[in-house]
Amino acid sequence: MQYKSTRDSKIRLEASQVIAQGISAEGGLFVPETLPSVQDKLPQLLKMGYRQLAEEIFTLFLTDFSRDQIADCVKMAYTEEKFGASPVKVVGLSASVGNPYLLELWHGPTCAFKDMALQILPHFLTESLKKSVPGKEAVILVATSGDTGKAALEGFRDVRGTKVIVFYPQDGVSPMQKRQMATQEGGNVSVCAINGNFDDAQTAVKKIFTDKKMDRALAEHNFLFSSANSINWGRLLPQIVYYFYAYFQLCRDGRISLGESINVAVPTGNFGNILAAYYAREMGLPIQRFICASNSNKVLADFIATGIYDRRREFFATSSPSMDILISSNLERLLYALSGENSEVLSVWMESLAQEGHYDVGDMVRKKVQTLFFGGFCNDEDTTKTIAEVWKRENYLCDTHTAVAVNVYAQYVQKTGDSATPTIIASTASPYKFVKDVLGALEPVAAQDEFMNIARLETLTGTSAPSQLKELEDKPVRFHTVLEKNQSAKYILETLGIDEG
Ligand SMILES: *Cc1c(COP(=O)(O)O)cnc(C)c1O
Repeated sequence: MQYKSTRDSKIRLEASQVIAQGISAEGGLFVPETLPSVQDKLPQLLKMGYRQLAEEIFTLFLTDFSRDQIADCVKMAYTEEKFGASPVKVVGLSASVGNPYLLELWHGPTCAFKDMALQILPHFLTESLKKSVPGKEAVILVATSGDTGKAALEGFRDVRGTKVIVFYPQDGVSPMQKRQMATQEGGNVSVCAINGNFDDAQTAVKKIFTDKKMDRALAEHNFLFSSANSINWGRLLPQIVYYFYAYFQLCRDGRISLGESINVAVPTGNFGNILAAYYAREMGLPIQRFICASNSNKVLADFIATGIYDRRREFFATSSPSMDILISSNLERLLYALSGENSEVLSVWMESLAQEGHYDVGDMVRKKVQTLFFGGFCNDEDTTKTIAEVWKRENYLCDTHTAVAVNVYAQYVQKTGDSATPTIIASTASPYKFVKDVLGALEPVAAQDEFMNIARLETLTGTSAPSQLKELEDKPVRFHTVLEKNQSAKYILETLGIDEG
């Protein structure tokens, strides 16, 4: 299988090349030339455990990897030590409107769904580098709204032949996320706060990727930039697996029969997680509708309603910070598919987004988007209410991001009347990762201290916090740097020990 770019129809690359490179030279995103169908194989796949299923699916896409190499990557990533016996869990919400099931994706080392991809990406990447640019050391640049940064640091830490540099918005992540990153261990990691919001951090990183001067400086020192953001194909691919797995789990539990249609609801920021579900559908998983849930930064909900993507708006720092995004990078991949793979028109739209802050996809693409996607949003107040209601109704504690999706799913049921179709709601973080807001939904919060809040939430609900969060209390803070966004290039060169003279 070869890969092409959303903005240049002539490009054809192998999987290892696109994973090593991250983003295409002209700024486009890499997509598979065709999506392999597994429709005939569903009965076989149904019988597989998570790791075997992952191996099967990866084999279809990573055609320049050997079967053994793929098996090794899976074995190193999804260990029982890191994820427990089954990396994901499906939980039914029986007392709620509609027919929802939560797909818990946060049983990995950093307690957010990004572990599902970022525990395996380093292994994909080191294999890819060996194949495509032997001898080079990869510098992984990450812009994060919180969870990606920690998951990348944890995934790449002390992985040979890699260095990882993370930029996060100083006031745009939760205290727990900040603490997770500032205390990160490992000899090849650096963390830096940026004055600005997530889009500032992401734009700064994207600019560095396409900066020819930086590229040369790195090449001279045998380094090579790569990306762990969800623009990297190696991030999206692992996310396809759990939609299949969750569907099969519902079959195995007798909730649905094989072939029956489901919906998928996803709390969305950069559009990576929901796009992986779309790819699963293209491969033959019977998904009827995608419910795209935004917080108050509802640029996607507005886009789905109007066909106009417009980032020129106020930015809100919300209680679901990992979705505080106004430029949803992966939407480009969806629009590429829905526009009939028209790289010229995609280039125009993305240029317009970069220069003027908006674009209009026109009636034909808008209608295609609306047939497949339902968009909605949920503000902080309703997020709080939803957490409280779900707790009261179901005795189930969900985090702020998950609550946004639960709320928008209820809106979907109300607006469409579709209460029967089984719906998998992606649950993307442990409630203890956003403890202040989750506890605050249940009772007034007295303490400023995160760890006191953790203890209180445990007592109040009888649930237990993940040990990897509790342990942060005793870890020393290693990183303190805060910079302006235009200083990020300099920071990178310094970190790598490159003297620009
Ligand atoms: C990253 C993240 C999201 C958004 O996922 P995208 O793939 O960026 O749409 C939602 N919830 C949590 C907890 C996250 O960390």
